[in-house]
Amino acid sequence: MKLHEYQAKELLQRWNIPVAGGIVAQTPEEAVAAAQKIDPTGKGPWVLKAQVHAGGRGKAGGVKLAKTLDEVRTLATQMIGMKLVTPQTGPQGKIVHKIYVTADAFYPGPSPIREFYVSLTLDRAVSRDVLIASAEGGVEIEEVAKQKPEAIFKLHINPTLGLMPYQARQVAYALGLSGEAFKNAVDFLLRLYKAYDALDASLLEVNPMLKTSDDKIIALDAKLEIEDNGLGVRHKDLESWRDVTEEDPLETEAREAGLSYVKLDGNVGCMVNGAGLAMATMDMIKLAGGWPANFLDVGGGANVERIAKAFQILLKDPNVKIILINIFGGIVQCDRVANGILEAYKIIGDIPVPMVVRLQGTNAELAAKILKESGLPIIPAVELAEAAQKVQEALQRVQ
Ligand code: GDP
Ligand code: MN
Repeated sequence: MKLHEYQAKELLQRWNIPVAGGIVAQTPEEAVAAAQKIDPTGKGPWVLKAQVHAGGRGKAGGVKLAKTLDEVRTLATQMIGMKLVTPQTGPQGKIVHKIYVTADAFYPGPSPIREFYVSLTLDRAVSRDVLIASAEGGVEIEEVAKQKPEAIFKLHINPTLGLMPYQARQVAYALGLSGEAFKNAVDFLLRLYKAYDALDASLLEVNPMLKTSDDKIIALDAKLEIEDNGLGVRHKDLESWRDVTEEDPLETEAREAGLSYVKLDGNVGCMVNGAGLAMATMDMIKLAGGWPANFLDVGGGANVERIAKAFQILLKDPNVKIILINIFGGIVQCDRVANGILEAYKIIGDIPVPMVVRLQGTNAELAAKILKESGLPIIPAVELAEAAQKVQEALQRVQ
């Protein structure tokens, strides 16, 4: 689950991490009230930041400086409801529903402020968390990685020990800090890791991490993603922080039905039980020259309602030109899945795209018989490679 900057900063404060905090607003009036609350003298300046689940807002016009309360109102009016297109939103952009009003962290200037990059995430290649830091903060880290890879410092974290104080000192040193700023950065990094660990985060990125003219270290921006598997168990309280307006509507619908669904950009809708089989199925589709429209795991205990729901979700994606069902009957018996497909047909009425079905495992022969006798336009397959091949043939017919 992705969180907004304002939510991430609220969480970071629970670990006493200094942040450039503010107040979130959904209307221009709320933005003006927030600005007045932040600076009761009414002098400002303030910064207004679009709250969308994407970075790169600065360059795209999603971070604006307001020098007067009138400017706060004007800019808030422009920003709320605007479509923000950044390199991370994709070309369709994201509508701004909320803005974050903060004091200008660079005021009063000019001062020798520096911007750093720090993030924590899982490095799957070595099965350890990694801390990534760079003195070239503020800008897109992907660009730094490409053009100046030597400016990026990486350090792996032992899962039992966590981030060690000596490691945090290594990072602060690598960032070129000294004196009070060095000490503050070490403290900042140790707290950041504690927050990352305790929140079961899959990403915690602070870009920029700011060094102020008085040697304080603060998070000017924060990006936080919580691992969904941790969310349902250890962070139930955070579930209500989810902003569904930022998420893909089909993914939301699927999650609410207990289906594990990720939308992709191909045209073969797949329905599979088990994440591993779903991955293998997607690989086979691509190998046969197709392109999966989604990842969908209906789970081990797929019943009729779930299968019908899965069909509905698949069919709501206008890109889906063909459906591939690949179910391995282990716990779930194939004849029950076959009956589920027939029921789903009844519930949905008609399934307007060709459907390749591979049911293997317990009661597979019975399932094949049920599907055959139903008279429904189903293309049966026995082997996975054969299924992928039939998908490819059917795709050529519909295109
Ligand atoms: P991002 O572009 O989505 O990553 O958003 P950030 O929060 O990182 O802000 C982008 C850029 O806007 C920063 O690198 C800063 O240069 C600038 N910025 C952010 N907050 C402030 C602020 O309080 N005052 C000023 N003057 N600039 C800011
Ligand atoms: Mn940023």
